[in-house]
Amino acid sequence: MPSVYNRYCLHNISELWTPEGSLAAAGAAMARLKKLHHACLYVVDGRIAWVGEESALAAMGSDPAANSLKREAALAPRIDAGERACVPGFVDSHTHFVFAGWRDDEFYWRTQGVPYMEIHRRGGGILRSVEATRAATEGELIDLGRARLNRMLSLGVTTVEGKSGYGLDRDTELRQLYAMRALKGNNQVLPLGAVPDIVSTFLGAHSVPHEFAGRPRAFLAYLLDAVLPTVRAQNLASFVDIFCEKGVFELEDSRWYLERARAAGFALKLHADEVAPLGGTGLAAELAAVSADHLLKASEAHIQALAKAGTIACLLPLTAFSLREPYANGRHFIDAGCAVALASDFNPGSCNSQSIPLIFALAVLQMGMTVEEALTGLTLNGAASLKIADRVGTLEIGKDADFLLLDAPSPSHLAYHSGMNLVVEVYKRGALVWKNGNALDAAPFDSRV
Ligand SMILES: [Zn+2]
Repeated sequence: MPSVYNRYCLHNISELWTPEGSLAAAGAAMARLKKLHHACLYVVDGRIAWVGEESALAAMGSDPAANSLKREAALAPRIDAGERACVPGFVDSHTHFVFAGWRDDEFYWRTQGVPYMEIHRRGGGILRSVEATRAATEGELIDLGRARLNRMLSLGVTTVEGKSGYGLDRDTELRQLYAMRALKGNNQVLPLGAVPDIVSTFLGAHSVPHEFAGRPRAFLAYLLDAVLPTVRAQNLASFVDIFCEKGVFELEDSRWYLERARAAGFALKLHADEVAPLGGTGLAAELAAVSADHLLKASEAHIQALAKAGTIACLLPLTAFSLREPYANGRHFIDAGCAVALASDFNPGSCNSQSIPLIFALAVLQMGMTVEEALTGLTLNGAASLKIADRVGTLEIGKDADFLLLDAPSPSHLAYHSGMNLVVEVYKRGALVWKNGNALDAAPFDSRV
């Protein structure tokens, strides 16, 4: 069975849900999805050429005045979606998937009550991953990254953001970014070697390394002088991010660094107000960062400032879950007018999970969000927080045909089947790149040509 067609009509979709537009949806707009019943999707050369209800297509096909595109869609090879639901591929807009070594022991320390910042002060935490990642070759990082990306793909993630930040020195930071670049290169020929598309972020300012202990400003100056120019010259990252947190990079150091990174041409992201209410959320708004991430301790005034600035609030419920912290109040962020994105924060320390199904469950059960808002947070708003919403994140004409078929009659099941992976097929730029083997028996694809 071929898995790539340059032109086909996916029909017999029970329900198709998609946000609309190429800008982040904020506030009440997050819940406004286009919902189609008995839908079909016409794909040409990896892009969506038409999407709508079958009845509309049929009517167009028999109408001599209908435009030729819609007639073509009616005549194109047909793929049977098996009365499954369809949604855009998920965009996981905050991850740290390139690292070496594990920290399972620390996971259990935390369950015994050792606090995150205490582990950090002991020289554990991030610095353990730094040690292991410094010792890894680029090839090892590529292999580790590929395995994690494959897992993400199986969960319906078609685009992922990946951060450096486990090197904290020039060579290792660049090696992490080179590993991501190599993995991106795999995607040139789909479906062979398919992994999600990768958007890279430079997070050299993830922690202060031993070499600069007690001198965070000197370390930031080193990153600006010795690393960022190469990242820029080789186009290795779109964003610069910083771990703005008490005892790591304080507010003034963060502002100083980010202003210079912005002047060097990078868009900005911040790890903000995760552990202590330092004010990173307000700084993100002040600097018009593309996103501010975590926000567990964000103040009311700063939440309002985010909404006003149009900075996307990227909430990471799996981290709160893993750290047993109270969840960010997604409902409140949305009611305040923010655009909320949801992401995994997959990393070896505070959140060793890529589970999109668990994100849906937590968003709806613990964060006061509707399943529609959660879907927007994992598609359009994730794409907007990576500045690629003109290309992915919704199922609209002209966008990449990145979409999922779910083992459910409606996308409303995404949170209802709590923590369960409903994704049975993943399409990337129109090509079937992942298929749940167990679903093969249940889903006849004989109608494929
Ligand atoms: Zn993070």
